[in-house]
Amino acid sequence: MDMSRRSLLAAAPALLAAGSIGSPTPAGAAAPMVGKQAPGFYRFKVGEFEVTALLDGIVQAPLNPARIPNVPVEEVRKAMESQFMPVEPTVNYFTQIAVNTGSRLVLIDAGFADNGAPTTGQLRANMAAAGIQPGQIDTVLVSHFHGDHINGLRLKEGAATYASAEIAAPAPEWDFWMDDARMNNAPEAARPGFNGARRVFGPVAKDVRRFEWGKEVAPGITAMRSDGHTAGHTSFVVSSGGKSLLVVGDASNDPRLFARNPEWHLSFDADKPLAVATRKRLLDMAAAEKMQVVFYHAAFPATGFISKSGNGYDWHPASFSPVV
Ligand SMILES: [Zn+2]
Repeated sequence: MDMSRRSLLAAAPALLAAGSIGSPTPAGAAAPMVGKQAPGFYRFKVGEFEVTALLDGIVQAPLNPARIPNVPVEEVRKAMESQFMPVEPTVNYFTQIAVNTGSRLVLIDAGFADNGAPTTGQLRANMAAAGIQPGQIDTVLVSHFHGDHINGLRLKEGAATYASAEIAAPAPEWDFWMDDARMNNAPEAARPGFNGARRVFGPVAKDVRRFEWGKEVAPGITAMRSDGHTAGHTSFVVSSGGKSLLVVGDASNDPRLFARNPEWHLSFDADKPLAVATRKRLLDMAAAEKMQVVFYHAAFPATGFISKSGNGYDWHPASFSPVV
């Protein structure tokens, strides 16, 4: 039945009397399940800078024996179970960060937008919940060109997601993926990576700023060499007021596995021995300098601290605080 506003109003007193609408659930009656999570953002300060961790979503997948090729899958399962990580299915998180330096609003990496699994693509909704509009982003810094980090720069139908922002990418990463000769010589299985980079960056190639390692790439944000995961993979150090935040990117995947066991190989690491050396170098630095750290693939809010322990490192997730 199509109830008009008039008839709904006319019926209201009777419905109210019956407890159907407009009245609180009486004590003792079943409250409806809400079935919805709080928005995925988490805010903290680094010196004078305001940082917002933003969740793009998760991907759930069966435990894949090929994911960590130098460790028997049963050992991986035990390590996950010992830390109460979900195993069937496993859960992979995708967290971007927005850094408000006071003069610039900088987004680091871009998630999937509408190019990924239905459990991803939540970055813009979580940004809105956090009080950030896409048009306010001045610069998007890219850590590397894997799809879960760059696909969100462009919607499936082609429109740029942050049309008013400058895009800045590591020069060595650009040189690797945008080299046509390398793409043409690559095995068929490697083509989607090259094609994906062209889909995202092709239409704006001349406008993408390419930066070098060791340089300040936005106010207070320095690009740090962390290759191994990819040829030009870059981490970032965000510094303000004597405080520093290390944005690891994918130099370590989930720290519960790869900080705890830095010599484990991730199937997606292009140069595995180099990835291990880079991971240890970054985690050593974070532990020695007691830096706050963000991992792209840590459980949300993906930020915390690292300490040295045995042959690896312990992960200490940040605690929620109502005070920023
Ligand atoms: Zn990634």
